[in-house]
Amino acid sequence: MSAARVRGRYAPSPTGELHLGNASTALLAWLSIRARGGTFVMRVEDLDRQRSRDELAEQCLQDLEWLGLDWDEGPDLGGPCAPYSQWERRGDYVRAFERLKGESRLYPCFCSRRDIANAPSAPQDPGEMRRYPGTCRAIAHEEAMARVERNDRHAWRFRVDGEVSPAFDDLVRRRWGQGRSAPGDFVVYRADGVPAYQLAVVVDDAAMAIDEVVRGDDLLSSTPAQLLLYDALGLDAPLFGHVPLLLGTDGARLSKRHRGITLRELREAGHGPEAVVGRLAKLLGLRPDAGPVTARDLVPGFDLASVAPAERGHVVDPAAW
Ligand code: GLU
Repeated sequence: MSAARVRGRYAPSPTGELHLGNASTALLAWLSIRARGGTFVMRVEDLDRQRSRDELAEQCLQDLEWLGLDWDEGPDLGGPCAPYSQWERRGDYVRAFERLKGESRLYPCFCSRRDIANAPSAPQDPGEMRRYPGTCRAIAHEEAMARVERNDRHAWRFRVDGEVSPAFDDLVRRRWGQGRSAPGDFVVYRADGVPAYQLAVVVDDAAMAIDEVVRGDDLLSSTPAQLLLYDALGLDAPLFGHVPLLLGTDGARLSKRHRGITLRELREAGHGPEAVVGRLAKLLGLRPDAGPVTARDLVPGFDLASVAPAERGHVVDPAAW
């Protein structure tokens, strides 16, 4: 009997156009799965209804296709784990939330953004989530429930017990979390009634039987919290590989503020997908030169372990291409 095929995914948020940083992460996630003949899943993370746009979700998929990536399951193709957009899967997050609540793993938090911003917080290492000081954990249960009943605006936080962070073997970063303090109590259900990313991503990756999560270094700080959720929900955690971010020439993580970095802009400026992939491959240390190459050409022998971690990320300047 053949071994089950390894399953990986890319999970774009359709809140903006895909830029080179997203393309770099998607390319690495795809290469790692394709190099082992695995199944690649596309999942649209559109829970943020205020910022997500259906047309951007479609454009993301088109941009990834233009880049030369393909997938076996996704919102456009369907598949055994359908639906592949989070908004349509929200019932699953509510069930997981109810279960955690029923097991007293959560407490309501009435703090406003400003309360949290103004609260004194312990110094933290770079790469850690901002630590919630635990203000609402101290509210007596009866009082907290009375305030929930009264509909005082509240989020729900996961109660983190223990002082030390879960550690894990990252496929790029190697051992991570060791000797670090545990994340603070984190939000699993937002005050606006939307399940938080931390909960949704864990529920989905488990439900879609994802074995390998390759994503940007900006999410490294979320992984210990997610490992606590896997444990609390009795789910098996996937392997994680956190890959270098791309930075603008100002040293800041690529974002809307930077010009000329979206795949659409690059395409409109006359760059072909092979040129973009070639530049990315050089930047990531996959090839010695930046000449044009297809994504498919990079598949043979690709190994995520050969991607060098970069402390802050790699600077990219498409204006100089
Ligand atoms: N939707 C997230 C993003 O676009 C990715 C989440 C993940 O890979 O865990 O940044």
